[in-house]
Amino acid sequence: MSTTTKLPELFGSMVFNEETMKERLSSASYKAWKTCVTDGTPLDISTANEIAEAMKQWAVEKGATHYTHWFQPMTGVTAEKHDSFIAPAGGGRIMMEFSGKELVRGESDASSFPSGGLRATFEARGYTAWDPTSFAFIKEGSLCIPTVFCSYSGEALDKKTPLLRSMDEVSRQAVRILRLFGDTETKRVITQVGPEQEYFLIDKKMYAQREDLRFCGRTLFGAKPPKGQELEDHYYGAIRPRVAAYMQDLDEELWKLGVLSKTKHNEVAPSQHEMAPIYTDANSACDQNQLVMEIMKKVADRHGLVCLLHEKPFAGVNGSGKHDNWSLSTDKGRNLFKPGSTPRQNAQFLLFLAAFVKGVDDYQDFLRATVAFPGNDHRLGAQEAPPAVLSIFLGDELTAVVESIIQGTEFQEAGKRTLKIGVDTLPAIPQDNTDRNRTSPMAFTGNKFEFRMLGASQSISGPNIALNTIVAEELEQFADELEPSQDFRGDLEKLIRRVFTEHQRIIFNGNGYDEAWIDEAERRGLSNLVSTADALPMYTSRKNMDLFIKHGIYTKEEIEARAEIHIENYSAVISIEAKTMIDMIRHQILPAVSKYADALCQRAYHKDAMHLPCQYETGTAARIAALTDTLMACCDKLERDLAAIPEETMDAMCYCHNVLIPDMADARKAADQLETLTDSEFWPFPVYSDLLFYV
Ligand code: ADP
Ligand code: MG
Repeated sequence: MSTTTKLPELFGSMVFNEETMKERLSSASYKAWKTCVTDGTPLDISTANEIAEAMKQWAVEKGATHYTHWFQPMTGVTAEKHDSFIAPAGGGRIMMEFSGKELVRGESDASSFPSGGLRATFEARGYTAWDPTSFAFIKEGSLCIPTVFCSYSGEALDKKTPLLRSMDEVSRQAVRILRLFGDTETKRVITQVGPEQEYFLIDKKMYAQREDLRFCGRTLFGAKPPKGQELEDHYYGAIRPRVAAYMQDLDEELWKLGVLSKTKHNEVAPSQHEMAPIYTDANSACDQNQLVMEIMKKVADRHGLVCLLHEKPFAGVNGSGKHDNWSLSTDKGRNLFKPGSTPRQNAQFLLFLAAFVKGVDDYQDFLRATVAFPGNDHRLGAQEAPPAVLSIFLGDELTAVVESIIQGTEFQEAGKRTLKIGVDTLPAIPQDNTDRNRTSPMAFTGNKFEFRMLGASQSISGPNIALNTIVAEELEQFADELEPSQDFRGDLEKLIRRVFTEHQRIIFNGNGYDEAWIDEAERRGLSNLVSTADALPMYTSRKNMDLFIKHGIYTKEEIEARAEIHIENYSAVISIEAKTMIDMIRHQILPAVSKYADALCQRAYHKDAMHLPCQYETGTAARIAALTDTLMACCDKLERDLAAIPEETMDAMCYCHNVLIPDMADARKAADQLETLTDSEFWPFPVYSDLLFYV
């Protein structure tokens, strides 16, 4: 793209979006699609056929040769199975074919995707079904059709189906609340999400030399470089040309796919960057974030770079997270978390706020579990990301409002007014408070909540399913209580006061990185699930299962399957890391340091023969020899322990956490000390200063 004037043309050019549909479909079919999206009515086959034909024509014009149902299995990445459009046309010729049936429903051999035991092996097929609320797009010559993925008996095998269910549920309950406030028009409330994505860029040649990066996405070894992020000179710093070229290319690719990539900047750690899109409905945001992660990696490859999305590629410098900005808006675009300017609007805002506060307090443990996986254990609570304790930051202004409601005292605004819910307006709540708290796991930022515990590599689906569902639950309780009320304003005021009083422990405006907060949180009775091994069992607690089953988000089997997949994944990841570590120690580090020690000994021998002092050589060789033996012993122990992982999945997870992780820490300590003593010519792979300060 040469000039920015072409941007409007470029934007969404690879998306079969609403405008394209309007252009290319008969008005009857366009309308049928539209009602399907707004009211959830099914598409009839003739409409599907027409859409499929138009989609195919459009895609072929754009150079596509294949189509694929594009779905999000429970692995957290996306899956695709490509079929070409070609069909024999007689006489050795072909034609391009794509029917409504192929658009709407596809079959897939589901047996290689994790199912957590949901699918018996004799019935290994699953099917994919078009999600007409998400636009089809072209990626690398294939028309990609966003789909849900289910087993034949109807269980969700993916991350999209429950997200759509949770969006419907929170909409249903929110509309009930809006009716209480006299809104008779809103048909649907839509979850809005803007995910900010952090990532690292490193040189491809260096990456290729590190087995740990290739197999695990993070370094398992590496002494601290002389310079890390101490100077804080990287954050928002000038973007270097190679990175700038990458970012421009990335933006263009994303714009073509209709992703509203908006902000880009350097992050705190060297080689770390961030991309933020403009928010959109949660379903599209989730699809698009999956695309963003994929495109980030692909574009990096073209630039001789590798994009790392692991939560902690390098020890000692900040890892990468994802901020999930979440809010609810009506189908007319009115944000329900925006404090209003009239008493009625602000009473409604306070009720939604109360639902959120109560929901996060009631389901802290579940929210924590949605961000629990091995990569994120390196970040949460490590002074670079929020602690493992959930709390909500409301800011001074809103906290003062909440406190006055709790205490029943009069709220003073500029010494003039007192606040009565439903009678007065709220004081101004700043929307962009630049010095706002960045250490909070869940921060109110004026008109949305920013859930900051997500890891960079994870799908945002799980956390948003949880937020939607817990808010739906609280709104349902409120609606059940208020709908029969004879004195709406009085009962509303009582409810809001009661909820804030009972759940004020979850509100915390202080420094979340402070150790004292953890003690304080414990006194408040907040849950502190330090690691993934502590958090994952929360998936299947009675209370949490009941919530999701009651709202029809997951069946009992679906939620158990998900827990099982996460638990198995934990052991799988830790085992791969352990095996990679053993391999690198045995085949790279031990031979290298032994060789170097030998070189030192030979030099010492020659010097000694010349009656020269050789303390440097002998002393260093002695230290290296001792550490070499230590490292070997650590490696042997790790190998023995690795062979003894228990069979049962929950036991295996706890064992990996309690036994293998400490083993790996011991081995790393010895290896990193060896790195600092070894001549760089002998060290077998690039070190931190090469990796972090090269691009
Ligand atoms: P930050 O200072 O954290 O970068 P921004 O205000 O730039 O905050 O917003 C970060 C993200 O939040 C962006 O993706 C933005 O589109 C999104 N966002 C803004 N408003 C809303 C909203 N009402 N609901 C959901 N996401 C939102
Ligand atoms: Mg942010």
